[in-house]
Amino acid sequence: MTQGSPSAEANIIPRPEHSISRRDISDAALKVLYKLDKAGYRACLVGGGVRDLLLGLKPKDFDVATDATPDEVRALFRNCRLIGRRFRLAHVHFGREVIEVATFRALTTDSPKTELDENGRILRDNTFGSIEEDALRRDFTVNALYYDIHDFSVIDYAGGMEDIRRRQLRLIGDPEVRYKEDPVRMMRALRFAAKLDFEIDPAAAEAIHDWGHLLADIPPARLYDEILKMFHSGHALRAYELLREYHLLQYLFPSLDRYLRSDPSEVMLDFIEQALVNTDRRVREDKPVSPAFIFAALLWPLVHQRAIQLQSKEMGTIPALQSAGREIFADQVRRIAVPRRFSEIAKNIWNLQPRFTNTRGKQPLRLMAHPNFRAAYDFFCIQSMVGLTPHKLCEWWTLFQEDNPQIAPARKPAGQRPRRRRRGKPRGEERRESNP
Ligand code: ATP
Ligand code: MG
Repeated sequence: MTQGSPSAEANIIPRPEHSISRRDISDAALKVLYKLDKAGYRACLVGGGVRDLLLGLKPKDFDVATDATPDEVRALFRNCRLIGRRFRLAHVHFGREVIEVATFRALTTDSPKTELDENGRILRDNTFGSIEEDALRRDFTVNALYYDIHDFSVIDYAGGMEDIRRRQLRLIGDPEVRYKEDPVRMMRALRFAAKLDFEIDPAAAEAIHDWGHLLADIPPARLYDEILKMFHSGHALRAYELLREYHLLQYLFPSLDRYLRSDPSEVMLDFIEQALVNTDRRVREDKPVSPAFIFAALLWPLVHQRAIQLQSKEMGTIPALQSAGREIFADQVRRIAVPRRFSEIAKNIWNLQPRFTNTRGKQPLRLMAHPNFRAAYDFFCIQSMVGLTPHKLCEWWTLFQEDNPQIAPARKPAGQRPRRRRRGKPRGEERRESNP
């Protein structure tokens, strides 16, 4: 039996009646589509690419769906690698651009190739299927639209076109079943609502309140991937607000959630918001952003509070910060597997903060040569914007850098290294911060 809506007639929207133009599709994606089509296969653009084009947005990447099997795809493209054990996908490489080509799949609960756990969660699904089955296994109706290269039509099995018009996120099928199959869809709902400024359809929204706790069972490595997509989307502030509104923060950032529910300091709340506004602006301006900065900002109220407690037990400022940072991260990585190289940078950002108050002698030049100086300076100045640190000091450091342009850190400021696409990389490949 196929999950989701009962089998429906496809609504086929011919070229003159929709807004997708080949001019807005990357050359690499077009090459893949045309080559598959010429070889006699069905070849469609699908998912976020189609959705974003219909909304007049620039897609992040282009995914292709086809009735060719992964081996048949590989036989067509020299620059192709098959990846994934759970379900095999073809990655076709064009320089830095990768086009992901997936064979139409079905979600069948009676197939030996689909494994569900006792909660209905999908463990494996690897059955090839028809394009219609492929559409109905997807999460939201607006993510289940296909742009068919053969006649340039848009194919809609789930009512996605109407939902694009109404700017609403509607799950295909019963929300309870779909969230149980994959609880991360609840985070995806919030991510797309933030990014697209869409309403979440009432049934899908309501069910998040009922089933949010299922996120507690998701492996921390997957939560890390999804959190990054939320916070690097250019809509981090909105995503954060939605995570709070839907009470999902408790499963992702339990100690931050407890802090926010206790009697949080207003300035710390402002600080988090300012840090997210800053991240969103950097994404919009195409500047690099780093996971280290996001985690440093979200966990700062906790580290700050804990460091003060430790200092009152007669620990020095810096040892107290270091100790607090280690403790807070050890707790956080139980839920979200932050790779160690980023947690180390986040800790550096915290530990460097007191050094910004020392503007005498050789100290400033030394601080400026630290590889994480730039990220720590940005962090310090965001603190000054909300009144946590003196504004004059932020200005002092801004001028000091202008006066000493030659003292650039030896390496690129690691806190703000360019975003790397992690696509296709097997999860867990990076060394994660682990619990002691
Ligand atoms: P983005 O703009 O972030 O790339 P996207 O919609 O393309 O958004 P992807 O994570 O790239 O999202 O996934 C591509 C497509 O695969 C989705 O549009 C959706 O159709 C399907 N998909 C991805 N994740 C899931 C999931 N957890 N459950 C069901 N379908 C999914
Ligand atoms: Mg995508």
